[in-house]
Amino acid sequence: MSAAEIVFIGLGNMGLPMAQNLLRGGHAVSGHDLVAANVEQLVASGGVTAADAMQAAAAAKVVITMLPASKHVEGLYLGPDGILAHVRPGTLLIDCSTIAPDTARKVAALAAGQGLTMLDAPVSGGTGGAAAGTLTFMVGGTADGFAAAKPYLEHMGKALFHAGASGSGQTVKMCNNMLLGILMIGTSEAIRLGMANGMDPQVLSEIMSKSSGRNWALEVYNPCPGVMPAAPASKGYAGGFGVDLMLKDLGLAVENALSTASAVPLGALARNLYDIHSKSGAGRLDFSSIFDLLAKREI
Ligand code: NAD
Repeated sequence: MSAAEIVFIGLGNMGLPMAQNLLRGGHAVSGHDLVAANVEQLVASGGVTAADAMQAAAAAKVVITMLPASKHVEGLYLGPDGILAHVRPGTLLIDCSTIAPDTARKVAALAAGQGLTMLDAPVSGGTGGAAAGTLTFMVGGTADGFAAAKPYLEHMGKALFHAGASGSGQTVKMCNNMLLGILMIGTSEAIRLGMANGMDPQVLSEIMSKSSGRNWALEVYNPCPGVMPAAPASKGYAGGFGVDLMLKDLGLAVENALSTASAVPLGALARNLYDIHSKSGAGRLDFSSIFDLLAKREI
């Protein structure tokens, strides 16, 4: 059995660099993922692993999860084989995945029923922010839980916000990503229109970045290949934040809008555009590849 202080489950594009930053911060981390190669990368960085993730969780002080979607979080935490059934009283549970606020509240309430503190702590900042340890954390849960989590979150992020009660972190994340999905499409449209008029996308982006259309998609994560060497667009849209993950997040926003009688006309349109893009085979590419969907028609 591993006696690592932290058990980190879900070592994908985000989880692996986050867990590596906890190691750099001097914590002992046991890493777990369905993909063995991901675990091997953490072990190569000084982490450990155990044959049984639940046994490792039973011995840990903190369990952190970074999984794709609501169903993975429910599947891993609940039921007789789940985390809640294995951890000791006093273990701090931090879920960093982006999931539905209702699911976060449900799992946290079941944890609280067992005397456990669980936080929803989704992040913003992309894979670059995960690698650099500069993520923004938006945390839902008790103030005491937030204070207990801070020493760990500080190694992975530089802006830590207590958004409010359980589920609040996911609510903020849902609103943010709906806006991001819309902004990426708008930014792609604007660059494509400029290019169709003969503009150099680099010059266009630079000027718009100092004008009123400026936004994160334009300035930090430009969707046009070649404009920013470090952006996924310049690396064949590999890595980064997948189209299917953005599609999931926009689905959370649209579902939530239905249940709260809110109007999200641009969020719904963005969801449909990412859906069409995913079905064209782009699901695993970075979400900035929506730029391809908006390519000019030859006339
Ligand atoms: P990913 O698909 O790269 O990683 C998820 C990992 O979880 C995979 O390696 C998968 O094998 C593992 N996994 C799934 N079920 C598991 C289980 N039962 N046990 C162990 N491992 C399991 O996804 P990602 O890009 O790292 O994103 C993770 C979460 O973070 C998502 O909810 C996403 O919406 C959110 N997010 C991603 C980004 C980004 O830029 N990629 C930014 C902010 C938030």
